[in-house]
Amino acid sequence: MVNTDSYREIITYLNSKKVTLVAVSKTKPKEQILELYNLGQRDFGENYVQELVEKYSELPKDIHWHYIGHLQTNKVKDIAPFVYMIHAVDSFKLLTEINKYALKNNRTINILLQMCIADEETKFGLDEKELLVLLEYYEAQKKTLENIKICGLMGMATNTDDNEKIKTEFNRLHQFFLHIAETTFFAKPYFTICSIGMSSDYLIAIEQGSNLVRIGSLLFGAREYKNR
Ligand SMILES: *Cc1c(COP(=O)(O)O)cnc(C)c1O
Repeated sequence: MVNTDSYREIITYLNSKKVTLVAVSKTKPKEQILELYNLGQRDFGENYVQELVEKYSELPKDIHWHYIGHLQTNKVKDIAPFVYMIHAVDSFKLLTEINKYALKNNRTINILLQMCIADEETKFGLDEKELLVLLEYYEAQKKTLENIKICGLMGMATNTDDNEKIKTEFNRLHQFFLHIAETTFFAKPYFTICSIGMSSDYLIAIEQGSNLVRIGSLLFGAREYKNR
């Protein structure tokens, strides 16, 4: 069941802070997505390619679909015709593949680069040095990469109850985001998105400078994965 009270409360707060909400609807049925759509929500996040393709085909076409999970290069072509933003790009290979299929579909795909800020080895993402190297590659080859737009950074904090630790990780990512946006060779007018914060930590993330949060369970309830 969609928690519409919670949605209204969260969206009011986010609007007051000029923070974008991506409603994370993975595993949830299209009826529930429509319920939020009818309240005005247009940005939704998914992280299973097949599920996203099905939902795209069945739901209103003015939805902005965000692919928020780790994307395999061989799946890029399935979502390239319609995806609005791909959040977790962490290799030059994936970036060039996204460009290739964006070009084939005659469109531009927005991307965020995923940084590894948590101290868990299972998390994907780039460290600061790797990210700068990737941006240098991009700069060197940007004439052949005109169908992607690197719009910012995303990251996930360590899964912990230690709010100070989460705060430190988010703060570091935000500082690095500002550094790139304002002072490096890469500074671009559209490099504006700092995507940090989910249900459990979005308030901390906003305090630390997030301007896009990805919230699932607070809106749609807990997820069940047993059929996967
Ligand atoms: C599932 C997911 C979320 C949302 O998580 P909740 O805790 O349900 O808010 C956010 N970001 C990513 C990358 C996810 O995979």
